[in-house]
Amino acid sequence: MTALQLSAKDKLRRNIKTLGLRFLSGSGLAGLVGRVYGGKGVILMFHEFTRAPEEKLGQGTRIEDFEAVLRRLKRAGRDIVDLSEAVRRLADPESKPFAVLTFDDGYRSNIELALPVMEKHQAPATIYVPTDVITRSLNAWWLGLREIVLTKDSFDFEPANARFECSDHAGKVATFSHLLAWVWQDFSRAEALEQVFTDNGISLPVLVERYFFNESQMIEADKHPLIEIGAHTSTHRALRLLSDNDVKQDIGDNKKFLEDRLTREVPHFAFPYGRPSLTGRREADIVKSLGFKTAVTTDPGCLFSQHADDLFLLPRQDAEYPDDGLSHAVCGMNGFYRALATRCGAPVANVALEL
Ligand SMILES: [Zn+2]
Repeated sequence: MTALQLSAKDKLRRNIKTLGLRFLSGSGLAGLVGRVYGGKGVILMFHEFTRAPEEKLGQGTRIEDFEAVLRRLKRAGRDIVDLSEAVRRLADPESKPFAVLTFDDGYRSNIELALPVMEKHQAPATIYVPTDVITRSLNAWWLGLREIVLTKDSFDFEPANARFECSDHAGKVATFSHLLAWVWQDFSRAEALEQVFTDNGISLPVLVERYFFNESQMIEADKHPLIEIGAHTSTHRALRLLSDNDVKQDIGDNKKFLEDRLTREVPHFAFPYGRPSLTGRREADIVKSLGFKTAVTTDPGCLFSQHADDLFLLPRQDAEYPDDGLSHAVCGMNGFYRALATRCGAPVANVALEL
C-alpha cells in the first residue's frame, strides 16, 4: 500500500494558475483573445455555490464571485438570457451578444444562494437535474469522497491500494483532487466505491439529502420566472460506457420523469461529465432523436452562428474556480480556454463539419 501526502506541489500549481488568470483577465489580453474566440454568446457552467469555500475542497463557486461574474457580463455588453433566447439569437445576425447561466445537478445552494443574486440582476438560469437526485438514489461518489477527506486525517483507499494522509487543509484539497482525477481516468471506478463509503461510515443518501433540493423544491423552483429545470439523465453515469439502448433509456426516462412532475415539455439537456472523451456524436444523435432542442457539453468554447445548425454538442465554459472565480470566468467568456485547448486552432467547437 502506498502512503500519499499531497499538498505543496499542488498548492504551488494552483497559485501559479491563479496568478496567470489574473494577469490575463486584468491586462486585457483575454479581451484580445475574445475578438476571435468570444463568439456571439457563451454558456457558463456552475454547480454548487458557497459562502464557505474551505468546506468544498476546491469545488463550488463563492457566491460573491458569482455576482461579480454577472456584473462583468453586463459590463462586457452581454445580455444574460435563457437557452431558448440564446438559440433564437444564434440564428439572428442582428442579435446582441449574450451569456447563458447553467447549474448542474440540482444543488440546494442554487436556490438558497444563487437565486437571490439572479433576482437582483434579473438573470435567468437553467438547472439540469438527474432523476436519481430527486429519488435520493444518486451515486454521488464525488460527495462521498469529499466527505471522507473532510472528516478523516488519514484513511486507507483499497481500490487504488493507497493510504492518504491529509491532516491540513492543503493536504485535503490535494487528496480530494487526486481522488477525483483517479475516477476521471476510468469512470467504471465510480461504480465500485460502495465498500469504501461503508468502511468510512458514509451514507450517500444522507449526503444527497443534505446537498440537493427535493421534488417539491424542484417543482417550485421551475415555476420561478428566472429558473428552468433541464434534463441530465436518470443516473448521472458517463454515457460513453453505456450501450445505445441504455443511453436512450437513461436520457429518455429522465425527460419523462421531469415532464410528468413539471407538467410541461423539457427541451434542454446537459451531458453528465460532458467532456469529448465521454460525449460525442452518438450521444448527441440520441438526444436529438428524443425530442430535445439543445444539449450542452463541457467542451470549453463560445457560441457562434454556426451552432444554430448544430445544437446538440454545444460548448460550455466551466465558470467554477474557487481561488479566483472572476478572472477564470472572464477568460472563459472570451474563449481563452478554447484557444488554449486547440493551441489557437479553430474558434468554433463541435459543429458537424469540423468532425
Ligand atoms: Zn452533472
